[in-house]
Amino acid sequence: MQATVIPAPAPVLIDVDGVVEQFPVRRVYCVGRNYADHAIEMGHDPSREPPFFFQKNADNLFNGDSFPYPPQSANVHFEVELVMALGGGGADIPVEDALSKVYGYGVGIDFTRRDVQDAAKKMSRPWEAAKAFEKSAPVSPLLRAETIGHPHQGAIWLEVNGERKQAGNLNQMIWKLPEVIAELSKFFTLAAGDVIMTGTPAGVGAIVRGDRIDCGIDQVGTLSLTVV
Ligand code: MN
Repeated sequence: MQATVIPAPAPVLIDVDGVVEQFPVRRVYCVGRNYADHAIEMGHDPSREPPFFFQKNADNLFNGDSFPYPPQSANVHFEVELVMALGGGGADIPVEDALSKVYGYGVGIDFTRRDVQDAAKKMSRPWEAAKAFEKSAPVSPLLRAETIGHPHQGAIWLEVNGERKQAGNLNQMIWKLPEVIAELSKFFTLAAGDVIMTGTPAGVGAIVRGDRIDCGIDQVGTLSLTVV
């Protein structure tokens, strides 16, 4: 490997269920307001405002069983999401070809500094400080699409301390999985290693240190964390 003037950053690697090899993360894209009931709870009209994209950093993703409550917020929210991990990419990917780009799926949480996000929205400022902080995207080990297929429906849920907070279904997505990939590839050239968080159903809320979070998606797995 070519010598570097400072230590090269470590690659970001995510576990894949059932194999020793890991999934290398290139970029992390997120879909905003992809479930109508969540768009409505956030004060928006999904019939007038289509979903949109934002990003997190690759190294915000991690496998683990604890989530460190971040600084600079007093209102951190959970958002359980289906995670798509791409094994291929391209630009202007047709909807019909889109699912062939998917390597696998996982369960993730798009942790959000909601107070910081609310302030950013009011002032028309960018969202990175609200969305792309350290450890803001825990994810379960990926399941390979060749094993489980493509999850178009199934329960997606999250509990805090045993109390159900979010209970949706993947079939409630406004942009379906192939449409998410096709839309995103109009703006960015996608590639193997890209991860897409596909949006959250209604019921998002705040957590505090000591909370136990359990979440899952039918046929994709579960993810459990303690807030520390
Ligand atoms: Mn989200």
